[in-house]
Amino acid sequence: MSMLKTPHEVALLRECADLVSKTLAEVAGYISPGQETQVLDRVAEDFIRSHGAEPAFKGYRMGSLPPFPSALCISVNDVVVHGFPGSYTLCEGDLVSIDCGVQLNGYFGDSAYTFGVGDLDPDKTRLCTATHEALMLGIAAANPHATIGDIGSTVQRHCQAQGLGVVRELVGHGIGSKLHESPQVPNFGRPNKGRRLRTGMTLCIEPMINLGTSEITVDSDGWTVRSADGTPSAHYEHMICIRADASEVLTTFEYIEEVIPAPYERTQTLTYG
Ligand code: MG
Ligand code: MG
Repeated sequence: MSMLKTPHEVALLRECADLVSKTLAEVAGYISPGQETQVLDRVAEDFIRSHGAEPAFKGYRMGSLPPFPSALCISVNDVVVHGFPGSYTLCEGDLVSIDCGVQLNGYFGDSAYTFGVGDLDPDKTRLCTATHEALMLGIAAANPHATIGDIGSTVQRHCQAQGLGVVRELVGHGIGSKLHESPQVPNFGRPNKGRRLRTGMTLCIEPMINLGTSEITVDSDGWTVRSADGTPSAHYEHMICIRADASEVLTTFEYIEEVIPAPYERTQTLTYG
């Protein structure tokens, strides 16, 4: 398994990315106060299967933990990632991070988006804005002249400058015929350090950012990751392919944002460096 994908492999990954993007948009139509998160999970699983694909997270194994039970990770408010869908009903003002994975034609798609249920308070809006910006800046930093450390340091600097907590225990990753491939893509690092990026690498960049401390706790279920101080957390994830000039973003949030308004503010054009 090479880190460098052939054009054929990239084409297959582009299909996976498109399906995962459309699945998140399908789920977006069901996000409203009073909705149970397990309904969102059912919507996603039905949508994925109706497109001839498999939900990649359902049954996923991590270490000695029981397999992940659902198609989606649904992480509300202080849950950072890996929340279980269930009987919780969404409330006005909740921050809901939804991570989705699909397997199609032997390849994987993986994307995450943090939604607002109705109007968010200013702190949650600020958190979403910074986390989305950090993702886009990280993508802008990813080119064949850069390193893994350039991506991480860009994300880290942008969020820490705003007093936000950058979660370190969970990282982005390569993606291909496995859901999680080398290299790891941390959301922290040092410029010009780490593995050099190369044209044809396909990566998931996924900042997980807390309004308060960067520290996390894990529930007794072994999966559910929370901010240690109970502050809200946001998570945006795109799949990209490293290109000679600029990265190609394989996933898109455009389908989602045709259904539900973005919870983040669109700021002036960002530059990095
Ligand atoms: Mg993901
Ligand atoms: Mg991922």
